[in-house]
Amino acid sequence: MSNILIIFAYKLILMINEKYTTDKILIFDIDDTIAITAAKIVVTDSKTGDKFELTPEEFNDYEKNPKHIVNFDQFRSLEIMKAGRLIDKYFNILKQNYNKGIAIGIITARDNQSMIYEWLRYHVGFHIDKKLIWAVNDPVHGLTGNIQQRKQEAMKWFIEQGYTDITFFDDDKNNIKLIKQLGKELNLPIKTHLAKK
Ligand SMILES: [Mg+2]
Repeated sequence: MSNILIIFAYKLILMINEKYTTDKILIFDIDDTIAITAAKIVVTDSKTGDKFELTPEEFNDYEKNPKHIVNFDQFRSLEIMKAGRLIDKYFNILKQNYNKGIAIGIITARDNQSMIYEWLRYHVGFHIDKKLIWAVNDPVHGLTGNIQQRKQEAMKWFIEQGYTDITFFDDDKNNIKLIKQLGKELNLPIKTHLAKK
């Protein structure tokens, strides 16, 4: 085999065998935890036709009105995602641990696992195993229930994979509360951080 082929084969093996820890993991939400983007949720009142926009932070406390049509299209835009800014504090924690080979997971309310994977890999520069990226509203995961319940389900999956040292970062206190509760139920203390901008 020529040298070039050997190098190519070696690189291929490295790509497949991305090494990361299987006991310790840091799991991050995206919006308002590691990144702030201009993406907004557009809410339309089906009766009056009135429209208004909510930031992800405002959406955390929004209670759905049956007359409201909620549109998340802006969260599917890789361009809006790329134009956002990273939140240094939590992003640096992610980066330092990633560089040490600690497993990194994502649990976001977004609905596009592939877009998050690509954004992390080609825009931010981290190659995170796709199966560790949970965009809980993406039909690929087959989750049901509200956002908090879906986030709990995603966390259960991580626990089932055998992770025993889990730290969870999210800017929504309701998510933090439910993830903590889940840890208690399953007898596995989960460390949590309420991300603040
Ligand atoms: Mg968030």
